[in-house]
Amino acid sequence: MEKIKNYINGNLRDSLSGKWIENISPATGEVYSLIPDSDGRDVEVAVTAAEKAFPAWSGLPAAKRSEILIRISELIRERLDSFALAESTDNGKPVWLAKSIDIPRAIANFHFYATGILHFHSEAHPMEDKILNYTLRSPAGVAGCISPWNLPLYLFTWKIAPALAAGNCVVAKPSEVSPMTAFMLSALCNEAGLPPGVLNVVHGYGNKVGAAIAAHPRIPLVSFTGGTKTGAEIYAAAAPMFKKLSLELGGKNPNIIFADCDFEHALSTSIKSSFSNQGEICLCGSRIFIERPIYEKFKSSFLEKVKKMKTGDPLHDDSSLGAIASKQHYEKILSYIALAKEEGGKIIAGGNPVMVQGRCEKGYFIEPTVIENLPYNCRTNQEEIFGPVVTLTPFDSEEEVLKYANSTVYGLSATVWTENLPRAHRMAARLHAGIIWINCWLLRDLRTPFGGMKHSGLGREGGFEALRFFTEEKNVCIKING
Ligand code: NAD
Repeated sequence: MEKIKNYINGNLRDSLSGKWIENISPATGEVYSLIPDSDGRDVEVAVTAAEKAFPAWSGLPAAKRSEILIRISELIRERLDSFALAESTDNGKPVWLAKSIDIPRAIANFHFYATGILHFHSEAHPMEDKILNYTLRSPAGVAGCISPWNLPLYLFTWKIAPALAAGNCVVAKPSEVSPMTAFMLSALCNEAGLPPGVLNVVHGYGNKVGAAIAAHPRIPLVSFTGGTKTGAEIYAAAAPMFKKLSLELGGKNPNIIFADCDFEHALSTSIKSSFSNQGEICLCGSRIFIERPIYEKFKSSFLEKVKKMKTGDPLHDDSSLGAIASKQHYEKILSYIALAKEEGGKIIAGGNPVMVQGRCEKGYFIEPTVIENLPYNCRTNQEEIFGPVVTLTPFDSEEEVLKYANSTVYGLSATVWTENLPRAHRMAARLHAGIIWINCWLLRDLRTPFGGMKHSGLGREGGFEALRFFTEEKNVCIKING
């Protein structure tokens, strides 16, 4: 059975505990590899290695760091197929999706920040004659990066690439639910010429490895993507040390469809924003609000498309949805479908586990599920389900839909479908979300600020925002005498 290893100080090694966690492939329900069950001791060794590597790495010209990071992206590109297969096996997502979205985006993350650092600059503020202020941005030291299971390599690299490009050394922890591609990435870093200790990957449970990173006194900044509850725990652990934090957390995003929209476009994109990656994308629009004049038409067209979707073996090209990432998450989603029924919801599509014959008969599959007849403020419409489950709700006015849309504790993203330009701007200004898509969904320019408000997070990633996060800034004021 394959054993995943920690990557510390340039070496692939077992955890100090010598214990292992079973890694299950969600499509088959079978253990297919073992994950090191690391703890605070492994994190300590990783931090020491990162500290030792920091002066040399941060002292390299940006162009040299850039070259190594580009080499990493090229090595992933050369192994695109094996990375995609590994991501699918580990996470349950269709292999075609991993091949077209997850792994290309991981490559792009490295490439983007490897080149972005070459353009990163700082400000100067001249005062009166002979006095100049300038902003000096220096890497912070050892950065902690903790990532979730839903877009494993995509989000792991979205953190470590800017951290490394900015000159930090990193102690990173991928999710124990889907750690394989982070391991594969670590295994090619030496070949890319990354010096030992610059990137350290420690595998294991969140409450051991993640908590040790959050609480470590010599890790001054932590970038975290995951659930809101975990984000709050990290916030609390980091507070006494005044760590710099970037928290990308949960969402319950509205997808608002006005009667004047481009109907076909709104319909086909709403299918994607509801069920892509089994609905396990923090940006999925799980609450669909439809203006009453087109409610019935939208509902029937949407259901027609949903009924054609196939939930099946992630290795098959015709599977629209693959497996849910873990048994625990599968049970959570099913419990929310049961809750929706208790709350008076009417299941108008799906709602059941799917039995996939053959090698996947013990896997965790759920039908794409559509529910209507629920009030906007019930638990099903307020809490993050993070699965292939959406609700449909009619509305009569902008005011009313804004009330519904803004009613949750979350504020990650929102989508609006309308051909009325003034209305689009009004909605964008009044929606409580960090990312607004008008007549589109998931279009991402890596230069733009990415993140949520309210319980969806703190800080922004992307573009220079991330390079600013991973550096400490100083104002230097010089008076030139004479
Ligand atoms: P999670 O919070 O359970 O775990 C995320 C990571 O944190 C994992 O690596 C986990 O091991 C670690 N962790 C767990 N407990 C910890 C602790 N006490 N201290 C430190 N680290 C700990 O989240 P998940 O279930 O892996 O991911 C799903 C969640 O992530 C959803 O809520 C989703 O919305 C969110 N998410 C947000 C974004 C975003 O950009 N805002 C993107 C993807 C996913």
